[in-house]
Amino acid sequence: MTKYIFITGGVVSSLGKGISGASIGKLLQLHGFKVNMIKFDPYINVDPGTMNPYQHGEVFVTIDGAEADLDLGTYERFLNIYTSKANTNTAGDVYKTVITRERRGDYDGATVQIIPHITDEIKRRFVALKNDCDISIIEIGGTVGDIEGLPFIEATRQFQLENKKEDIFSIHVTLVPYISGAHELKTKPTQHSVNKLREIGISPDMIICRTEHHLDESLKKKISLFCNVKEENVIEAIDASSIYCIPEAFYNQKVDSLVIEKLNIKPKKKFDRTWFAKIKSLSEFDKTIKVTVVGKYADLKDAYKSIDESLNIAAGELKAKAEIEYLGAEDKDLVKKLKNYDAILVPGGFGSRGVEGKIKAITYARENKIPFLGICLGMQCSVVEVSRNLAKLKDANSTEFSETTKYPVIKILEEQKSVKYRGGTMRLGNYKSEIKKNTLAHNLYKSTEIEERHRHRYEMNPEFIDVLEKSGLFVSAYHKGILPEIVEIKDHPFFIGVQFHPEFASRPMKAHPLFKGFLSAALKKK
Ligand code: GLN
Repeated sequence: MTKYIFITGGVVSSLGKGISGASIGKLLQLHGFKVNMIKFDPYINVDPGTMNPYQHGEVFVTIDGAEADLDLGTYERFLNIYTSKANTNTAGDVYKTVITRERRGDYDGATVQIIPHITDEIKRRFVALKNDCDISIIEIGGTVGDIEGLPFIEATRQFQLENKKEDIFSIHVTLVPYISGAHELKTKPTQHSVNKLREIGISPDMIICRTEHHLDESLKKKISLFCNVKEENVIEAIDASSIYCIPEAFYNQKVDSLVIEKLNIKPKKKFDRTWFAKIKSLSEFDKTIKVTVVGKYADLKDAYKSIDESLNIAAGELKAKAEIEYLGAEDKDLVKKLKNYDAILVPGGFGSRGVEGKIKAITYARENKIPFLGICLGMQCSVVEVSRNLAKLKDANSTEFSETTKYPVIKILEEQKSVKYRGGTMRLGNYKSEIKKNTLAHNLYKSTEIEERHRHRYEMNPEFIDVLEKSGLFVSAYHKGILPEIVEIKDHPFFIGVQFHPEFASRPMKAHPLFKGFLSAALKKK
């Protein structure tokens, strides 16, 4: 029998509902339960794939090719699971399904309404993973009180009514702000937010309070009394040095026991505490590596969330601290600033803005033998860079940025030519590559066959492979012997570009070989 944990949020957005949910999921996993997590986002976009990263942060890609909320990355990294299309939902996708059914005539003449048709579809998605896990954690995005989120909260209420009390645990994550003038933490926003939730018919079993300062007993008592939650179920979530320390902070407040007790389940094995110690050991550093990520969204770390995580995880395994700095690809002083770093990463991206800056950063990394990792657009830029500067193909470019270039070294994929709709139509999800032996890629992966996640429309143009190989850049992995997947340069400590996104596959204690190789090359140079 699957049990359900619902997570809602109140007061403000960005409280880390995903991290709170994943931390509880981790504790339950350490008790031996099989845990999965599902995200519901209340916006009308069918998925975040068409959204600007400034709106939504990184677009996470699942192995089956869903373009999803970055919280799915948090779920995968905390729980060491693979998510799929069933783990990500939006209001737009729910409405699309219902409207398609209506057009097909499936509703038999009925007036199609939010209640019951939309809420029924939401409830169907709540149970989508019930055969795959003991506990399904359902995160409702947005903030309680938003008009958009109402159908999801209403569906949660109905689901509670239709299921046994002991099968559902409801958690509300709120903010307890500190007013510095009064030197006081304030509970009123939490009280209001819980009232809003109770108005809709949901009384939370637990309140997780995000706070910058410890909550004392009297404060917890007050929240307990006003919000109708037992005092021990008022949980403090204080800002942590690493998000992976949060499960232990929750364990120390018995969050897992409280959930297990209400859900009336028995742990499947003796609690495994070694995870806490292993996580701690990842932040015992004796050296630092200065890495720069040269991208378009330098002031929004969330736009490169999985890259940030991958670098930290890999550095931790090397007993080093990654000092990651984001440089704007359009910064006029970009090249001057590059001398401050031990490693240069150019991430994925779309559109021409910043591309010339990225290419300059790659020239710098290549000429000065600074370890370089190019991801997706970063790989494509490295091909353009070598074409222009080593193969002397003047003004070589990707047709994404110049349709009339004489040397289209990156061109649109054949299958993309007929694409009319932008959403969900890229080359998405896992594809296999065959790696050539005696290459850097082979040395890192220690395998000749890999599978990695993709999200792109353009590829390296096979017509130019010969001339580029003569100039020093060669292809070390192909998909089905045709599509170039990895490029490298010889006589360089570490220069590699990959058409795919390795950043989605890193997990704590399981650093991705490309990131680990990249940072160890940086350490060797020091
Ligand atoms: N814009 C490039 C393409 O579509 C690269 C995409 C990416 O970096 N994810 O091929």
